[in-house]
Amino acid sequence: MTDHLTPEQRHLVMSHIHGKGTKPELKVRQWLWHHGYRYRLNVKSVPGKPDIVMRKYHTAIFVNGCFWHGHQVELGVRSEEGGVTNSTCCKIPETNREFWVNKIKRNQERDQKNYQVLHDNGWQVIVVWECELKPKRIEETMNRVELQLNDYFLKLHSHKHIPFTYHQETEVPLAAEEINYNRN
Ligand SMILES: [Zn+2]
Repeated sequence: MTDHLTPEQRHLVMSHIHGKGTKPELKVRQWLWHHGYRYRLNVKSVPGKPDIVMRKYHTAIFVNGCFWHGHQVELGVRSEEGGVTNSTCCKIPETNREFWVNKIKRNQERDQKNYQVLHDNGWQVIVVWECELKPKRIEETMNRVELQLNDYFLKLHSHKHIPFTYHQETEVPLAAEEINYNRN
């Protein structure tokens, strides 16, 4: 990969690498910690190695960099460069554009696969975007995350206490009652 890059592009790569993995993830962790949530980091046994794993909530949180994961970017067919539009937080360089488009597209495909595996195993996936963690937006963003955590926790636990047959049983007597009533 590095062979193709101009010094300018390499600088871009480095700045994005340093921007990611430190600050945005830390903001999420700090918020959760200060609000009493406990978690584990980068659990390798969980698909996609989520940034934050909360077993109690069966939830994996990914803190995604807007550039590498192509936040709100419309990616066309891999060979068609024309179909790509930048978003406010993900501006794909004009130079060597197809290279970047393909790279971001591959990242997105890998993300979707990981999310799917987690879903299939009963895990909730929460994606937090780098741009949602700016000072003006972080509170709103994390309130949303908190709501998702608690909603899912409730779902997990209500399933245990209300078995599926409960709903079936209530329907049968109702139908029988109606028949009796009509006969009278
Ligand atoms: Zn973004």
